[in-house]
Amino acid sequence: MTDQTMHFQAEVTRLLHIVTHALYSQKEIFLRELISNASDACDKLRFAAQTNPDLWAGDTELKVTIAVDKANRCLSIADNGIGMGRDELIANLGTIARSGTGEFVSSLSGDSARDMALIGQFGVGFYSAFMVAGKVEVISRKAGEAQAWRWVSDGSGQFSVGEAEREGRGTTILLHLREGEDEFLDPMRLRQIVRTYSDHIALPVVLHEDGKPETLNAASALWSRPKSEVTEQQYKDFYHHVAHAFDEPWLTLHARAEGKLDYSLLLFVPGMRPHDLFDPARKSALKLYVRRVFITDRCEELVPAWLRFLRGVVDSADLPLNVSREMLQNNPVVARIRQAITRRVLTELEKKAEKDAAAYASFWENFGAVLKEGIYEDAEHRAQILKLARFRSSAREGWVSLDDYVAAMKEGQAAIYVINGDQLDQLKRSPQLEGFRAKGVEVLLLTDPVDDFWLSVVQDYADKPVKSATRAGADLDAVPDTVESKPEGGDKLEGASLGTLIAALKQALGDAVKDVRESKRLTDSAVCLVAADGDMDMHLERLLRMHQKLDKSSARILEINPGHALIKALAARAQQPGAMDALADAAQLLLDQARLVEGEPLADPAGFAQRLARVMEKAL
Ligand code: ADP
Ligand code: MG
Repeated sequence: MTDQTMHFQAEVTRLLHIVTHALYSQKEIFLRELISNASDACDKLRFAAQTNPDLWAGDTELKVTIAVDKANRCLSIADNGIGMGRDELIANLGTIARSGTGEFVSSLSGDSARDMALIGQFGVGFYSAFMVAGKVEVISRKAGEAQAWRWVSDGSGQFSVGEAEREGRGTTILLHLREGEDEFLDPMRLRQIVRTYSDHIALPVVLHEDGKPETLNAASALWSRPKSEVTEQQYKDFYHHVAHAFDEPWLTLHARAEGKLDYSLLLFVPGMRPHDLFDPARKSALKLYVRRVFITDRCEELVPAWLRFLRGVVDSADLPLNVSREMLQNNPVVARIRQAITRRVLTELEKKAEKDAAAYASFWENFGAVLKEGIYEDAEHRAQILKLARFRSSAREGWVSLDDYVAAMKEGQAAIYVINGDQLDQLKRSPQLEGFRAKGVEVLLLTDPVDDFWLSVVQDYADKPVKSATRAGADLDAVPDTVESKPEGGDKLEGASLGTLIAALKQALGDAVKDVRESKRLTDSAVCLVAADGDMDMHLERLLRMHQKLDKSSARILEINPGHALIKALAARAQQPGAMDALADAAQLLLDQARLVEGEPLADPAGFAQRLARVMEKAL
């Protein structure tokens, strides 16, 4: 069979172009990437061999071997791990399967400095080999198979795959170094790179120089070493390896428990938000080990979904080595580890929040929306998460906790007020907030989709009811006016003329509204919509309709501002003969206007346009 030539996925070609053309200052990281892949491959083999010992019979000492061929200017990195078959070579090294890749590649601008920073965050894994090599050969033989395969590419858009020979299972990456990259043939330099970046790898990394083997790294699992023997830099390098990430960890949590439950954990909160955090397919990414043997990185039960941003390793001494993925479901040991992780992480977050508000804010900006899912899903930890939550506010810049909010409540203020919407600046301009602002009452501005859901299960905080500012019941009468909010002129509509207008509007609007009434919350706008007590929140309803979870919309209460010039003019017109005909268009327009401000679609856009045209015509 002759070699077959294929094209890289378009994203890979773009990535390779940048990788090979940019002058990246830290080219040596290619070695870390290739050793990391070799280590992953050995973990996978060890796990597979638990159920099928034939896979590693005769060769159970897993290791990574680096060899230098100065005469041909080649560097090779070999492992005796799981190996890849032909189809795997094509899929794994010809495409980027990780979710979020499309988005990542399209955010690359062509400006090499900016792009390298982005690549630094996202990581290019195997493809980093092309930073130093003009040609890369991969010779791989899958465990349990006799045939080996060779993958070759110069990184310019194509690769070829054909039959090859390899002694034993595993993968060899052969790098034909570019001009000027001879430093990577120097054993001193290689030793230094491996110690810097790969010391934490749990397998020996062995350098072969003139036939003499030399182990370069410590080769013990980092999480099983005592904390006092691990440096910051080692934690950081381990995070890069285990999370396939390139940022700085925001939090490192290394702990060991003995007694009823025997486990070690080394967990990280990333410093940056991963691209696929909200991808529904993304599950927990913690790696589970049993007594230092890798079991799986797909154990969903290990950590609640609302902590899915955690990265790292959990090593249990209580599970059997031959545990299957099925056995991990509903496993009581796993459930107890999950409890312990949850408790430890929440405690750490509390400490960080107390110690350094600014640093905590950066965590919250990245992961707050995920953590808030726990308020809804996890009744047991609800109170703790609410305490950790931070919000934007109508009354101040920055992040506000519920405790901050309660401390700043006004005399006579009975509730914690919130308002939901899609965008912060749109929410800040909501007519419903006018009255709150006039009284100096703070409203928390909620813009994450998850906010609508947790609000349905949180009735109060610190004995104060939590209420939407768009609800009819939000009553501010007991809060004294601030000086600036005293209505100027004071000539508000009152009594009979207000009553007549309200009656006329009700008649004109019929079932389209639940009620029409005088507003206590408006100071500048003429009208707004509010939800009756017991009705669904307006923003939640819109969200559900958008996702086809709801097909009807409920009628709202239309509030009118008796101090507004337009309302006063309409009231005057309502007193005169023929009022009902004259007010029909105006009533509809008022309602449509309130809907538009709310972000609601118009029920009848054509009708709206006709009415607007008629009213404008008359006014001109
Ligand atoms: P990542 O390691 O983040 O998945 P890489 O670009 O580093 O991304 O590697 C892509 C894939 O290629 C890996 O997920 C793995 O399936 C495969 N792979 C790379 N190197 C090896 C290897 N030495 N042995 C077996 N599989 C490998
Ligand atoms: Mg990798």
